[in-house]
Amino acid sequence: MDFFSLQIQTIKEMLDWRVSLDILLLTLLIFFLYRTIRTTGTGKIFFGILIAAGIFIVARMLDLKGIGWIYSNLSQILLLALIIIFQPELRKIFERAASIKRREIGREAPKLSSVISDAAFALAQQRRGGLIVLPGQDSVKAWVSEGVPLDAQVSFPLLVSIFDPNSPGHDGALIIENEKVTSFSVRLPLSDSNKLSQVYGTRHYAGLGLSEVTDALVIVVSEERGSVMLFYEGLYQPIKDKNDLAARIIKHWSIVASHQLFNQKKVMQRKTLTQIAMSFVFAFLFWSTVVLTQSELKEMIYTVPIDYISMPRHYLIEGETATEIAVTLLGRTVDLNRINPSQLRVLIDLSKITPGERAIRISEENLDIPKQVRLARSRPTAIQLNIIEMREIDAVIKPQFIGSLADGFVIDSLSVIPSSIKVLAPVDSVQRDSVILLTTPIYLETIRQNARIVANLTAPAKIKPLAGRFPDVEIFLAITEQDDVPNLPER
Ligand code: ATP
Ligand code: MG
Repeated sequence: MDFFSLQIQTIKEMLDWRVSLDILLLTLLIFFLYRTIRTTGTGKIFFGILIAAGIFIVARMLDLKGIGWIYSNLSQILLLALIIIFQPELRKIFERAASIKRREIGREAPKLSSVISDAAFALAQQRRGGLIVLPGQDSVKAWVSEGVPLDAQVSFPLLVSIFDPNSPGHDGALIIENEKVTSFSVRLPLSDSNKLSQVYGTRHYAGLGLSEVTDALVIVVSEERGSVMLFYEGLYQPIKDKNDLAARIIKHWSIVASHQLFNQKKVMQRKTLTQIAMSFVFAFLFWSTVVLTQSELKEMIYTVPIDYISMPRHYLIEGETATEIAVTLLGRTVDLNRINPSQLRVLIDLSKITPGERAIRISEENLDIPKQVRLARSRPTAIQLNIIEMREIDAVIKPQFIGSLADGFVIDSLSVIPSSIKVLAPVDSVQRDSVILLTTPIYLETIRQNARIVANLTAPAKIKPLAGRFPDVEIFLAITEQDDVPNLPER
């Protein structure tokens, strides 16, 4: 299959929910691995693992046995090793998943808010004007004059001092950002709305103005009235109580913090989505190239020995029988890899065979192969056997003597044990009720005394022993040396 048809095939396979789940889990795995590597810098180990995995994949595709063995037998151990290697990283992942950390406002925030609130009410009590800006998520820079830049810790004396009417910097607003006084004597944009009564002057309109264009919280302390007023999102609210103001400031900061988190989240979400998409692409490619090619059906040809088993004793296979057969197996690579070719056997069960010319078709039943593997074909497709029926007859055993005894020696007596045995002979070829079986040759020339000779039987091709195998035959020869009486002159 070429690259694109593999992809199309994968999409088709994804209609099966198990394949979809498989790819989804792969995606998550790749994604988390990637994230882990990015955040913990375990790059080298990961790279090593990638190379190892690559080798395994190639090895499996090329059907390399050694690596394949490690892959299939040690994969659980390798997985365990991976878990141990990545244990700290995995812990981080789980921790992160378990606690969706809330971004919190600074630890100093409660103290700061009461310092600000105290200062505002102190100014109010002293009938001094004040204007404090607590920017929100939006930057106020674009809307305000630069003022006098400062990088000072927020403190009650500082705030009160800045708004001392005798100090040259008391005019304008003070900005507190990230728990620091960042500038004072800042000019704010005046609101031109008529929401606010005309009794209020420019300080109040300045507070309202900035609150209309940004999400800053603006505290205005009135010189004339000795009151504190809060401006936020174009609305105003007189504040009577110190604690109310402090609480309001805390709330403002928490909103800012959560907004920041939200914004960070958005950026993160975009990144994460890209990473997930990339992970999906990898998972998809992995599945389509590795898994699918592994599951792609292929054919393998094996030359397999044939075992004929369970033939009834009174039958004989006549002539040459095939000892090997070429079988073509069809299956997924993974399944074919599970076959050990040296253990493949074609078993032909002859227990139900009947005499005659028989053609035995080779089918999957003759082979011990995994369920998922099919027998595509065999060469030859059938084994030809000529089965002949045998019957029991007696065989008389005759020693096969070669040559003759040396001069002057004669065989006095001869006994053969056993002298006859039961054999099976083809029903139609043997008319008689007995046959003669010869032993292996026994050479007489060298024999000069009584002898016990053990010989085997040589049987014609179609004669089979009744009892499993032919017995050894013992031949006892009694030899006598003859006096050459006739040649002696008579006394
Ligand atoms: P208060 O109630 O304190 O009298 P108000 O609203 O009546 O305030 P003004 O009396 O006009 O306002 O107060 C003037 C002071 O307001 C200025 O001295 C200055 O410190 C401050 N102020 C006026 N305009 C701005 C501005 N655009 N930005 C910042 N501060 C301003
Ligand atoms: Mg005034």
